[in-house]
Amino acid sequence: MSRILCQQCHRPEKACICAFAIKTDNHIHVVVLQHPTEVKQSKGTVALLQQSLVNCEVIVGESFDDTDNLSALLSHYGDQIALLYPSENAIELEFSSKQRPDTHTGELSIETNNIKCIVILDGTWKKSYRMFMLNPSLHDIKHLVLPSGIESLYHIRKTKKDGALSSLEACCHALALLENNRGKYQLLLNNFVKFNQFQQSFNQRNNNFINTL
Ligand SMILES: [Zn+2]
Repeated sequence: MSRILCQQCHRPEKACICAFAIKTDNHIHVVVLQHPTEVKQSKGTVALLQQSLVNCEVIVGESFDDTDNLSALLSHYGDQIALLYPSENAIELEFSSKQRPDTHTGELSIETNNIKCIVILDGTWKKSYRMFMLNPSLHDIKHLVLPSGIESLYHIRKTKKDGALSSLEACCHALALLENNRGKYQLLLNNFVKFNQFQQSFNQRNNNFINTL
């Protein structure tokens, strides 16, 4: 039985997620290194992220050190590229005084205020770790970690690790902190909640359908 696919998101029409995308003009370029098993993962949040962000590219694979894409990006951005990954050396992003009036930190630290591109690893916790280990060129660039206390709104895929965020959420929070503009990404985060609900009800409907067979 042939299914009509949405031209934009390439999903069946009933599962189309295009209505949830919010065009957002991110100034900091986003590169998602996506594990191959995440591509077909319909619950994946990167599809929605990619449709929403104006400056976002997704590279699928596991080991990128032999590929031109990543090395070209790394040499293009030099010390202005950073990986969002909680390594031992990761710099914790901070809320600026504008966003949290009780601090005196003010501007972003010198280490993070020149960042023009962020790299995100999209996969389960285990797969992201594996991707990190397989790509030594990612070890020498700056690593960023989000401040603790950001709660996930992502209820579809249960993660065992506390405080783990979906790729979309992690990316939006990192951009909001780096660009010092929380409002800009809030609409997308709000729509992400609706996207969650949609996916959940969609799964439920499918389960009900299967149960009636
Ligand atoms: Zn669509």
